[in-house]
Amino acid sequence: MSRIIDGKAIAAAIKVEIAAEVAAMIDADLDPPHLAAVIVGEDAASMTYVASKEKACHESGITSTVYRLPESTTENELLRIVEFLNSDPEIDGFIIQLPLPAHINADKIIEAIDPRKDVDGFHPRNVGRMTLGLPAYLPATPFGIVELLKRSNISVEGKHVVVLGRSNIVGTPVSILLSRKSANANATVTLCHSKTENLADITRQADVLIAAIGIPGFVTADMVRQGAVVVDVGIHRITDLSQAKGYRITGDVDYPAVSAIASAITPVPGGVGPMTIVSLLHNTLLARRKEIYT
Ligand code: NAP
Repeated sequence: MSRIIDGKAIAAAIKVEIAAEVAAMIDADLDPPHLAAVIVGEDAASMTYVASKEKACHESGITSTVYRLPESTTENELLRIVEFLNSDPEIDGFIIQLPLPAHINADKIIEAIDPRKDVDGFHPRNVGRMTLGLPAYLPATPFGIVELLKRSNISVEGKHVVVLGRSNIVGTPVSILLSRKSANANATVTLCHSKTENLADITRQADVLIAAIGIPGFVTADMVRQGAVVVDVGIHRITDLSQAKGYRITGDVDYPAVSAIASAITPVPGGVGPMTIVSLLHNTLLARRKEIYT
């Protein structure tokens, strides 16, 4: 049976560290960090995610403002809000919750964000700086995964990490971060996607397997080497009438079967998800201290 990597407990410990730093700022008569989030429309997953961020900000003393805009918001209206947040000195960092409605060009909106306030780390300037190993806001989920492995004493140095999925928010950046020449990295990374041939042959070579493909239970036991570390990024709400809520949350990994052969595994929920939230708080603290762009 594998060790469970308790993202919930690790994230709670990080939140306490962040809260202590915010409290010290307030004691020094400084304003606490201020994070703003913009959500357009009523996508259920996005609303849950933004609510979790608000709660986490509240718990750590970070000021939080949420702009809830109707689905009918135009691209120009959203660009004007981005411009306003860019220039508001009271906002240290902000995020535009994705996905945006189809009539809004998300790339155009992200490029309009001031990189110094881009605490999601999605602006091309932050992505470029991350890739070059320069100080940058790191995207929350990949940074959360790196921190989760580090705080679980799992070194990836010299190891074969296989990443399933090449999205701009998870797969690609986590493969860049783990292959960099730096602490908590130096892995040999293989990045797989929907066109990868002989996928299971590759995943079976992984010392660390990171699943971020968005298909519930995709990673089965026959795809995992005995003793591998498995990180499950997927989040899916599956109808389950045996549960009081009528659903259960599951990931991209067939947890019952894979946990029997992995040496360590992240559960869903309670693995990567809580780390994503605290990584955003961490970036907001960096933005408040103006540490990335001095
Ligand atoms: P995404 O943008 O949908 O990307 C999915 C990736 O998986 C793509 O690169 C795709 O390949 C690849 N893929 C799809 N089917 C495949 C197959 N059969 N074999 C191999 N590769 C395949 O997904 P995402 O935004 O990265 O999210 C992935 C999952 O993580 C979702 O469940 C999402 O809800 C979850 N998530 C969780 C957190 C968290 O905080 N825990 C944060 C973000 C996302 P192509 O590029 O070839 O299409």
